[in-house]
Amino acid sequence: MDELLSAWFSQEGRDLPWRATRDPYAILVSEVMLQQTQVERVVPRYGRWLERWPTAEALAAASAADVIREWQGLGYNRRALNLHRAARVIAERGWPDDPTELPGVGAYTAAAVRNFAFGEDVLPVDTNVRRVQERTGHAFSARSAQALMDLGATVCVARIPRCGVCPLAARCPSRGRRYEPLRRQSRFEGSFRQRRATALRAIVAGDPVDDAEAVAALARDGLVSLDDGIVALPT
Ligand code: SF4
Repeated sequence: MDELLSAWFSQEGRDLPWRATRDPYAILVSEVMLQQTQVERVVPRYGRWLERWPTAEALAAASAADVIREWQGLGYNRRALNLHRAARVIAERGWPDDPTELPGVGAYTAAAVRNFAFGEDVLPVDTNVRRVQERTGHAFSARSAQALMDLGATVCVARIPRCGVCPLAARCPSRGRRYEPLRRQSRFEGSFRQRRATALRAIVAGDPVDDAEAVAALARDGLVSLDDGIVALPT
């Protein structure tokens, strides 16, 4: 199965900028951005980020305010702060043996860095990879990680997999099946998350904010500082 997948990937794999590097910092940036943002939106922002802060040391030297400003539009702003904190740890002590020791780095992101940057024999299992493994019943090797992600994103998709063009079809017990719609992500429109994002955007732009609840939540997360009722980005 790994060989079939590898042959397909060499023809059909997506040409994504973070696949051209083994720099662990660049891989970490891409993985943190990709955690909750779509690939198409991440591609230009990833390039811009690395131009501005090409190394963990450069990011560590930036102010939290600049990092939050640069992150605007990617959503889930706490990721920016965690990435900044992680860069400071790396700049100070180097990469830990276990990347989950870094702020905001969970098991999946750690596995991705270990595999894509350090070449370790670890398979990062995201939603796409898990789906393909479950449907095929095959335990793929770590070197199939990128190919599994692409197959899961473009062929073995959640509801109606495109088995007709799948390189694994001949050996897949799930071939031809259809799946129930998954639970939708909770609505952004009208949510508290949206209020927080709106408040932060206004603070970044230097505009007044009248949503005290959202500001308090942002302050609790360290995304803004509150001093005598004055709201500002953290330094
Ligand atoms: S044959 Fe269909 S269900 Fe099986 S891995 Fe390929 S796309 Fe997924």
